[in-house]
Amino acid sequence: MQTDTHSPLASPLVPPLMGQMMSQPLSISSIIQFAARHYGGSEIVSRRIEPDIAGLHRYTYRDCELRARRLAQALRDRGVTMGERVGTLAWNGYRHLELYYAVSGSGAVLHTINPRLHPEQIAWIVNHAEDRLLFFDLTFLPLVEAIAPHCAGVKAFVLMSDRAHMPAASSVPNLLCYEELVAAFEGDYAWPRFDENAAAALCYTSGTTGNPKGALYSHRSTVLHAYASALPNVLNVGAMDTVLPVVPMFHVNAWGLPYSVLLSGAKMVFPGARLDGKSLYDLFEAEGVTFSAGVPTVWLGLIHYALQNGLRFSTFRRTVIGGSACPPAMMDTLIDKFGVQVIHGWGMTEMSPLGTTGGLLARHLKLPKEAQRRILQKQGHAIFGVDMKIVDDEGAELPWDGNSAGDLLVKGPWIVSGYFRQEGGDVLRDGWFPTGDVATIDPDGFMQITDRSKDVIKSGGEWIGSIDLENIAMGHPGVLQAACIGVRHPKWDERPLLLVVRKPGPRVTREELLGFFEGKIAKFWMPDDVVFVEALPIGGTGKVQKNKLRELYQSHLSSS
Ligand code: ADP
Repeated sequence: MQTDTHSPLASPLVPPLMGQMMSQPLSISSIIQFAARHYGGSEIVSRRIEPDIAGLHRYTYRDCELRARRLAQALRDRGVTMGERVGTLAWNGYRHLELYYAVSGSGAVLHTINPRLHPEQIAWIVNHAEDRLLFFDLTFLPLVEAIAPHCAGVKAFVLMSDRAHMPAASSVPNLLCYEELVAAFEGDYAWPRFDENAAAALCYTSGTTGNPKGALYSHRSTVLHAYASALPNVLNVGAMDTVLPVVPMFHVNAWGLPYSVLLSGAKMVFPGARLDGKSLYDLFEAEGVTFSAGVPTVWLGLIHYALQNGLRFSTFRRTVIGGSACPPAMMDTLIDKFGVQVIHGWGMTEMSPLGTTGGLLARHLKLPKEAQRRILQKQGHAIFGVDMKIVDDEGAELPWDGNSAGDLLVKGPWIVSGYFRQEGGDVLRDGWFPTGDVATIDPDGFMQITDRSKDVIKSGGEWIGSIDLENIAMGHPGVLQAACIGVRHPKWDERPLLLVVRKPGPRVTREELLGFFEGKIAKFWMPDDVVFVEALPIGGTGKVQKNKLRELYQSHLSSS
C-alpha cells in the first residue's frame, strides 16, 4: 500500500538556505528558440491542406521559428494581448505549429478546437472561451461560415492559406489571409518573458457528460510535461527520430508532441487531413517515419491497409497507442507481424494529457512472451511528475495488488486544479483529481484501467469489466471492432451486451463468438447477447461513443 506521507522537512515554507541557480521562468517560446538555435536544420514536412497544391511542404525549425515571430508580431498588431484566447480549427500542419508557438510564445492563449464536434457545440466553445481571433484551415471554411453568425465576440477570422486560396465571396465577416499577416512583418521581435504560471493553452474535454469543460494549461505545466514525455520510459523521442503525430493537434495538443519533438530535435512529419491507411502508409515510407502516436481506431485503418496489400514498414519502429484501450490483438499484430514496438499510453485532457506509459522492467525480459504481453497491455507506469492512487467508495486507499479495482485519482504539476471559468466548481478531492476511470495497480506500480466509471457494467451488484470483454472479442479473427455495454435486465439490473463489427471474409456467428469467451472469463461475465453492426458510433476524438450505444440498445434484453 502506498501512503501519502510528508516529513515536516520536506517542504519548509522558509528555506534556511537558498540555492544559487539562475531563476528562469519556464516558457513555451524557449522550446522553439532552443529548437531553432540547436537543431535549426531539423526538418518539418507537411502534407498540404490545399487540395490543388501537389507535393509536401518542407522547411526547418529555423524557418518555423522566424515565421512564428512574424506571426506573433501580426497578433500584436491585431490587438491580441496577454491572456487573450486565439482559437484554431486546423489539421496537423506547419501553419498550425507556427500558431502553437506564436500565440503561446507571445503570451496569448492557444485554444485548439476539435472541428469534428457539432457546429453548435463549436460555437458554444468559441463563445465560452471568448476567442478573439479564429484561425482555420481551408477545409473548414463551410464550418466557419456556419458558426460565424453565432460568434459575435470573434474580431477576425483568419484563413490559413495564401491569397490565391481566399474565397472570392464569403459570408464570414472580417476574413483575413494568413500568409498576408505573416508577410507584413520582418520577425524583428523578441519573445517576451513573463511568469511561468501564465496561461498558455486551452483544450475542452469532449463533454460526454454535460457541457464541454476547459483545461487551461500554463507555460510551466506544458514545459514540464514536454520534458517528462521525452524520457526513455515514456515516448523516448530523440534527434535520430522522424515523428509523425497522427493524434490531432486539436486533441489535447497532439499529446504534447509539438513540444516534446521540437525540444528533442527530431524530424517532424505532419499528415494534414489525410488519415486513411494508404495515405499514412505512403507518408511513413516516403519520409522514413520511425515513431508515431494515435488512438486505436486510426491504427485499424493503417494495419488493415498494410495487411491487405502485403506491405511491411521499412523504418517505422515504435508507436504510442492511447486515448482508449489498445486491443491486445492490435498490439500483437503490430509487434509480431510488423516488428513495431507498442507503448500503451493513458491520460486525459485534464492531464496535458500523459499520465502513464506501458513498458517492461529489466527482470521481465526473462518471462515468456505471453507474460510480457500481459504487462505491456496494462496502461503502465506513472511518469515522473504524476502520482496516482486507487480508492474505494469511501475514499480509502486500496492496495497495489493488481486485483483491487477502485477509482483512480491523480496529482501532479501538469494536472488541472479546476476547469476554465470555474465550470464544475471545486473538482479536487483532498488535492487529488478524480479521473473517472476505474483501475487496478500491481505491486510493481503498473496501472490497468478496467473501465470508465460511467461505462462500468454492474450485474447483480458485481462489476464486469467492459474493456476485458472487448479485448477478448477483438482477439477473434473474425472481429474488426467490438464494444461492450451494460443494458437493462429485469433480474440483474444490468447485463453485458456485445456489439460487433465483423471483418470481411468468413462471417463469425453469435454462437462461435460466445464460445470463444468460454474459459477466458468468469461465467457471470458472459455477454447475454451479440449484435452485429455495420459500424460503431465514433466521436470527435476517435473513441467509440458508448453513451450513444446505451441509448440505442438499453431495452435490448428487457423488451425481448
Ligand atoms: P474525453 O474523451 O472525455 O474528451 P480524453 O480524450 O481526455 O477525454 O479522454 C480521457 C479518457 O480516455 C480517460 O479518462 C480514459 O477513460 C480514456 N483513456 C485514455 N487512454 C486510455 C487507455 N490507454 N486505455 C483505456 N482508456 C483510456
